[in-house]
Amino acid sequence: MTRKFEGGKLVVASHNPGKVREIADLLAPFGIETVSAADLELAEPDETGETFRENAELKALAAAKAANLPALADDSGLCVTALNGAPGIHSARWAGPNKDFEFAMEKLRRGMIEAGLSDTSAHFICGLALAWPDGHVEYFEGRVDGELVWPPRGEKGFGYDPVFIANGYDITFGEMEPQAKHAISHRADAFRQLVDACFGK
Ligand code: IMP
Repeated sequence: MTRKFEGGKLVVASHNPGKVREIADLLAPFGIETVSAADLELAEPDETGETFRENAELKALAAAKAANLPALADDSGLCVTALNGAPGIHSARWAGPNKDFEFAMEKLRRGMIEAGLSDTSAHFICGLALAWPDGHVEYFEGRVDGELVWPPRGEKGFGYDPVFIANGYDITFGEMEPQAKHAISHRADAFRQLVDACFGK
């Protein structure tokens, strides 16, 4: 049976202040008090998993055990069909230590040319794991499907947003207003599932 979050503090198992803020905002309507892994000075585990699920679960479990509190972690990325799902869990790493997404998007474009460029379909995945100190974990996965386009367009988003158009739209995630993107994104999909299962009545 799905375990519910029974209240109290929730650790957001991330050291990325932008992500921590976004997650805290998404959970605020449920009266959930969050504290970040950075605030608690928790060590950041290596992302050694081979799937979004493994990485989200290992981050959530490490934080839950270290803080002795329930902890929430995510792992997300872009999966390109013609590249057999790459960059996938390596999406952040493709941008290198300087987080250069122009470089990462160019690497994608070249990879697609080598692959013949016929199939431009891609999807974003967001894996969310909620773990408890006793080792119990609930996992949810959100997804949004679309197509890749060049040249990159729009400056409203982050990461690979300027080359991704969700199915049914004609502007990239980079050109969309944040609220419009948040209504249909892989992250919104995963959070809806988490909230329904673990934070609902
Ligand atoms: P994570 O922080 O380890 O989950 O890395 C996620 C990486 O996937 C980010 O650095 C981005 O490269 C990419 N990514 C995930 N979600 C999005 C999104 O909504 N838009 C654009 N890029 C994303």
